[in-house]
Amino acid sequence: MHPNSLIPGPTYITKFLHVDQKFAEEFNELDASLLPAHIALWKVSKTLTSAVREGCKAFIIDPVTHAFSYRGYLDKTTYKDLPYSPDQPISTSVLLSKPNDLKDFTRNVLEFQLNMDVGVLIAPYFYARDLDDSRLVANIRLISEALKLREAMDVDIPLYGHICIGSIVMQSPTQVDEIVNLYSDLKVEGFMITVENFDDRSVSSEALMGLAQLARRLQEDRDIFICSIAAFGQVLTALGVNGFSAGIGWLETFREVTLQPGRKTFAADRVPRAQYYYIPELLSYVHPDDVNTIFDEDTGSETMQEEYRCVCEVCTSGIPKSIEDKKRHFMLCRHKEMAQLRSLNPDKRPQHIRERLGLALELSNIIEEEALVRIPTEHFVRWIAIIDALSSSRNTSDVEDSIPDINEIIHQIRQDNGDKNNT
Ligand SMILES: [Zn+2]
Repeated sequence: MHPNSLIPGPTYITKFLHVDQKFAEEFNELDASLLPAHIALWKVSKTLTSAVREGCKAFIIDPVTHAFSYRGYLDKTTYKDLPYSPDQPISTSVLLSKPNDLKDFTRNVLEFQLNMDVGVLIAPYFYARDLDDSRLVANIRLISEALKLREAMDVDIPLYGHICIGSIVMQSPTQVDEIVNLYSDLKVEGFMITVENFDDRSVSSEALMGLAQLARRLQEDRDIFICSIAAFGQVLTALGVNGFSAGIGWLETFREVTLQPGRKTFAADRVPRAQYYYIPELLSYVHPDDVNTIFDEDTGSETMQEEYRCVCEVCTSGIPKSIEDKKRHFMLCRHKEMAQLRSLNPDKRPQHIRERLGLALELSNIIEEEALVRIPTEHFVRWIAIIDALSSSRNTSDVEDSIPDINEIIHQIRQDNGDKNNT
């Protein structure tokens, strides 16, 4: 964490979308909030942007510049309206060969954010698929340029870089090493990290470990926020990152394909997801049919009904039916979870989240027995293994030597869990 961090966390940064204005007004004591630039601009004449800005201590705009090295934004007016939107998609090799263009682009991106009165600046960035992607080099140049411009403009707010990278990189400790080496010399106050196609429930334990290591190696004296991630973001905050960002109740994953033409991309279009109900004890969003089954008075899970029925102000009159109430319930639960984590000493947080994952595993088994609803749990085992591996390893840069065999740990956790179920 940066020694003077504006957002020490652990916190959940709500990423607001155009449909979320009422939540921005209602939840107005947040540490930090995130608004994608095209949404901030689109509604600037209305009130979403100011509601989000006024409802948090650190207002952040994602400049969404990663869209501009693809053709997809050309079909989207909201992107094209951004003052730094290029006429044609940016070729990073061309941009790198024209230092003045690179400087102008960076300045326009920063000025847009300053005009929006942000609390943290984000340097422009592109998505880099792997280590051979020329956009990776461009990203380093853009951050360096942003640092120079901030100084020249005499601006006194934190500047973060955004590492937006392919999940293939996370699979390899040596590649994670290279990313750390590339970014660690930059004098920014923090990094946002987005990994492409990184669904935390389905990615391998190697990829989870890669992301955890990337964060851990960069977090020494910088703020780290993991973007577009579900509950594994909470695990990472327990392990020392400042926070994680996601939309209200969406299971969102950034995918490169959404930047290409002909794609309707945004979470708000995937409405069925909004019907899911967040059960904090399971660290999961559960399908509405399954929620009904679990909490059915006659045939549901007794344990869940008696001990784990949500008592937030939305759920006191029963499980919410409307999308809005489900989102409100999610916001209340998520912020309560984060407040609980914040209240613990940093050295107690890994154990706390480990116990929560253990409970999630146990409850999933109980629910299956009592209500015949199967809650996926494989990922919890992988997440616990990451916590165990990292807490038993030395904090050293010698990654491969210091981490115990993750597969062995997973085997052990499965065994322990199996044993418990049989007794
Ligand atoms: Zn509730």
